[in-house]
Amino acid sequence: MSPLTHQEKEKILSILESKLDPKVYDTWCRSLEIESAGDNAFRVPTANPFYRDWLEKLLRKPLEDAFEQIFGCAPEIIFQVSDEGTPLPAPPAPAEPAPARPEGPDAAPAPDFLLNAAYRFDTFIEGPSNRMAFAAAVAVSENPATLYNPLFIHGGVGLGKTHLLQGVCHAVLARNPAAKVQYLSCEDFVNGFIYAIQKNKLEGFRARYRRADVLVVDDIHFLAGKEGSQEEFFHTFNTLHLAGHQVILSSDQPAEDIRSLKRHLLSRFKMGFDARIMPPSYETRLAILRGKADARGWEVAQDVLGYVASVVETNIRELEGALTKVMGYAALSKRAPDLELAKEVLQEAIPAPGPSLSVPQIQQVTARYFGKKVSEFQSRRWTKSTSYARQVCVYLCRKHTGASLDELGSHFGGKDHTTMLYSIRKIEKLLSTEPGLRADVQRLEQELGRR
Ligand code: ADP
Ligand code: MG
Repeated sequence: MSPLTHQEKEKILSILESKLDPKVYDTWCRSLEIESAGDNAFRVPTANPFYRDWLEKLLRKPLEDAFEQIFGCAPEIIFQVSDEGTPLPAPPAPAEPAPARPEGPDAAPAPDFLLNAAYRFDTFIEGPSNRMAFAAAVAVSENPATLYNPLFIHGGVGLGKTHLLQGVCHAVLARNPAAKVQYLSCEDFVNGFIYAIQKNKLEGFRARYRRADVLVVDDIHFLAGKEGSQEEFFHTFNTLHLAGHQVILSSDQPAEDIRSLKRHLLSRFKMGFDARIMPPSYETRLAILRGKADARGWEVAQDVLGYVASVVETNIRELEGALTKVMGYAALSKRAPDLELAKEVLQEAIPAPGPSLSVPQIQQVTARYFGKKVSEFQSRRWTKSTSYARQVCVYLCRKHTGASLDELGSHFGGKDHTTMLYSIRKIEKLLSTEPGLRADVQRLEQELGRR
């Protein structure tokens, strides 16, 4: 196919705009480039592999459909990271407003990240378990960088941290669409940092985050053990803080429990307001389920919601999942979503003790967590650097498998049972005094599905 004419491109964009969520469109399509790439193929250049993966996921099908609609056939579409040297289209930062979207010169640039449209303050159910965190998030969104800076929200998985963080972003942007808000996961920060180093693009990377009015980094515990990224984030943090800009962070753990977090970074995290989200009470769980059912237009009796709320106690994502399962099953089997059906579905769906774990499984998960190899746990020479990881592993194997001390010994390089017992006792003793160890054990148990 020959290169697209301006009009053809505009047509494609307007089809995309009509099909996509406005946020997705604004973020990813405004500066979309579509280049001819030989017979029946088009190339969409992207700035880096992360954007490419996003574009694949979000745009492949809609783009193919749009081509089909206009030309009657879908060409091959190749999302490709631009070569070094060629000017990057730098998605998603919009370069110039497209002619079809007349906007004033002061129009705010579209945010270059995705927010979940449902994660707003008005869909967040408040309860005693999250009241402080919720109030702090609202306060920060109303007056960024005046009260709590940083705002550090921590709590277990599925308790609403991401929802609150994105709620702040929505609220800040609703008040001031021109506010420079940046929301990203810590994993994206780390990956972006590594990418920027590899490609010699640190300057752009830094500018992007250090110029934000409000920088929101989700799951900051991902910095655990990553020295270089910690250092980079430390400087980002300082720059923003000094300039009087807001930083908001979330973590699965309290800051002091994040493994090998540098002291100077820890002290920064403790400078502002530390809000903990606890597992929700039964009443809050019930209210969340009611909110979810109403939002979806589901008619569900109160006793069914009550039952679901009593089955899933800690993780709100799982709580919502349980209700969705009940409703899905009711629809499939053409039955009413009553208590009887809910019991049938959930008793089966939530096996109480979970599948049994094996020693090798635990070894694998623990080794990966500490960045070791399983063979290091089994080596006849026990090096000092692996001894902590190995002892935690022995402890977890004892706690979560039926293996005897001798059996355990055979999985750990043929050690005898006294050595195993020593490791177990040592970890048991340290657990009461070392919050970092407690956190490691908790996270590992979470990964093993034992929490
Ligand atoms: P986390 O980031 O803490 O792991 P999320 O913010 O992803 O948890 O929340 C998991 C799910 O539970 C999301 O769908 C979120 O909307 C929902 N959720 C959590 N807390 C609440 C709440 N208080 N009110 C309504 N929905 C909630
Ligand atoms: Mg989250």
